Amino acid sequence: MAYDFDLFVIGAGSGGVRASRFAAGFGARVAVAESRYLGGTCVNVGCVPKKLLVYGAHYSDEFEQASGFGWSLEDAQFDWAQLIANKNREIQRLNGIYRNLLVNSGVTLLEGHARITAPHEVEVEGKRYSARHILIATGGWPQIPDIPGRELAISSNEAFYLKDLPRRVLVVGGGYIAVEFAGIFHGLGADTTLLYRGDLFLRGFDGSVRTHLKEELEKRGLNLQFNADIARIDRQDDGSLKATLVDGRELVVDCVFYATGRRPMLDNLGLENTEVQLDERGFVRVDDKFQTDESSILAIGDVIGRVQLTPVALAEGMAVARRLFKPEEYRPVDYANIPTAVFSQPSIGTVGLTEEQALQAGHSLKIFESRFRPMKLTLTEVQEKTLMKLVVDADSDRVLGCHMVGPEAGEIIQGLGIALKAGATKQQFDDTIGVHPTAAEEFVTMRTVTR
Ligand code: FAD
Ligand code: NDP
Repeated sequence: MAYDFDLFVIGAGSGGVRASRFAAGFGARVAVAESRYLGGTCVNVGCVPKKLLVYGAHYSDEFEQASGFGWSLEDAQFDWAQLIANKNREIQRLNGIYRNLLVNSGVTLLEGHARITAPHEVEVEGKRYSARHILIATGGWPQIPDIPGRELAISSNEAFYLKDLPRRVLVVGGGYIAVEFAGIFHGLGADTTLLYRGDLFLRGFDGSVRTHLKEELEKRGLNLQFNADIARIDRQDDGSLKATLVDGRELVVDCVFYATGRRPMLDNLGLENTEVQLDERGFVRVDDKFQTDESSILAIGDVIGRVQLTPVALAEGMAVARRLFKPEEYRPVDYANIPTAVFSQPSIGTVGLTEEQALQAGHSLKIFESRFRPMKLTLTEVQEKTLMKLVVDADSDRVLGCHMVGPEAGEIIQGLGIALKAGATKQQFDDTIGVHPTAAEEFVTMRTVTR
């Protein structure tokens, strides 16, 4: 049968754009449907605008530290509306770049909601298209628990478009987004409380990292409330919001921001017209080649709920394009040693196993840990400490994990990701000459076993 397209991609986000462009480059006839915004979550309401706001929030630190270096500043003023307007202009520019990338690669761009009507058929804006393969790359959507007053709360989607910076913010959750936005709001001057249901936030990260960040955030004056959860939210007469906690306490704020995870975006996608199955968490079930239970349909990115990071969605999109249209270059996605950063203040960079994971996997370990005051702060009153940690297998000497809390942790951890991918040993770290004077050199100069 002749199909309209070899590949029909649903969603022009990180994974969908990558798969479309490369498939078209390999000679396939490709269409991509996008209902909302080109570039998806990362470009519009994720990584990019988030990082711009993090940069904005860092200026309060810089101004505070500047006097130690002889600078005197007049009373610095911050204008939220200006930051958001500039951010929006940059996002629009990126949307245009994504449009050009797709069109110039020969991909047919269909702007509208796509619904699968049959295993080889997709409907967009009332028009049906047939395709040999369909790729679901529809991403995720913020998930707010069903409590009374949840409609009064916002998620990251709305936070990027707030008209004003709220004076008092309550951030709920203990994952990447909660920690990053607590830092943004606090850095920009809002009175910020972070509320997390467990004992310590960032479950799954290395224990030393979690404790160190908690201490640093408290030093900065962030109000951290652990073992706490909201029972209901009510609007008060003066417009403020009252959050009543499960333990009966009441917090009055101007904005309640939920960052309690993301569900797969499957709304009106038409999966009932296919054999596609969901896993026990509700994400699209795929095998190791991103094949769903319907032979003509594949899925990648946040919608499969593996590792919800842009570079992972890109790698999955690339793998699908190669497998379908350039099988001789196909390489499976390797989920081991994925470096990642949390753009908190200070930031986290991490790659490989945490101490807890390594112990659970049966390794006997040598732990190297170092805490120090960054050189840049020595002329200031700021008492912030950087943490660096290496988790080393005592038998093979292989470095299993590198973890950091401190300035530019994401920038530093990227290179260490290559070292771990290459199977580097602690001896090879020791044999590497440092770059002086940097914080990063500490990763190659830690000699004393801490545990
Ligand atoms: P998406 O990028 O979400 O793209 C899916 C696209 O599909 C969307 O454009 C959507 O509109 C479209 N779509 C959905 N349904 C349909 C339909 N039926 N028809 C047509 N189109 C449809 N990751 C990082 O690596 N680093 C970061 O710093 C980072 N920061 C983040 C900050 C925030 C606040 C958030 C929310 C996420 C962040 N992420 C970050 C995660 C990253 O954004 C995602 O992992 C990534 O965008 C997933 O890509 P994707 O292609 O799976 O989906
Ligand atoms: P996460 O899954 O990282 O964190 C969700 C948090 O919400 C957890 O602390 C979880 O607690 C808590 N939670 C979940 N359900 C409830 C509930 N019903 N009530 C109270 N608390 C709840 O999700 P995020 O929303 O922070 O981010 C989504 C994903 O996006 C991240 O996992 C990451 O992959 C990606 N991302 C990446 C970034 C980066 O690379 N820098 C930045 C932002 C997002 P518990 O731990 O107890 O389950």
